[in-house]
Amino acid sequence: MDLKKRIEKFKELEYEFNKDFYMKLKEEQTPHTLFIGCSDSRVDAETLFQATAGEIFQVRNIANIVPREEEPDTHPSVVSAIEYAVEILQVKNIIVCGHSNCGGCAAIRKLEMYKEKLPYTGEWLSQSISISDYIDYTYPEMKEEDKLIMLEKLNAVQQLDNLMTYNFVNQKFATGELNLQAYYYDIGTGSISVYDYDSVFSDMIQEITSSRKLFIDQEKKESLLN
Ligand SMILES: [Zn+2]
Repeated sequence: MDLKKRIEKFKELEYEFNKDFYMKLKEEQTPHTLFIGCSDSRVDAETLFQATAGEIFQVRNIANIVPREEEPDTHPSVVSAIEYAVEILQVKNIIVCGHSNCGGCAAIRKLEMYKEKLPYTGEWLSQSISISDYIDYTYPEMKEEDKLIMLEKLNAVQQLDNLMTYNFVNQKFATGELNLQAYYYDIGTGSISVYDYDSVFSDMIQEITSSRKLFIDQEKKESLLN
């Protein structure tokens, strides 16, 4: 893989053939959509939306997670990008895109092991552990592969609830200025399931959020006692 050759080819072919487009593009960006996706190299927003440069503002991290407003956030890079997209770029859509065969979600299922091996990844992914716990508790008989698919889907929809903990998101959602949706992209079949904020998973998300709040309150109490 010769990366240098690839960028030379970009300049010679893509740029030269579309020079007017790029000359105009340099003036400003007016993306219509904020795409919050997994870092996974197979989840490519421009390909999925058949979009060109300047259309999609992106935040990508392992397992497409948005930290909740009320929880201690040591990773403000995610929220700062969302804040900028909503407040300054005034995007019309926020899409959280989960996907099949997600290594991040698979790691959530074995979090204790990952915490030792990959401490940063483990800490990051622990933000979604309550979803995995909920699935184990509610569907004890379910096969592990189905639990993983459910986690991939629920984790994407959960992030819509996490986004709504920020005033700059929920106020625009309430007035209809902002559309929130979660996607589940099945890589092998190319199909995408679309879930609204108020989806079939709403009741489950509410339960997960309540158990998460209890856990956070418990942690706060314990840290005060210590
Ligand atoms: Zn992933």
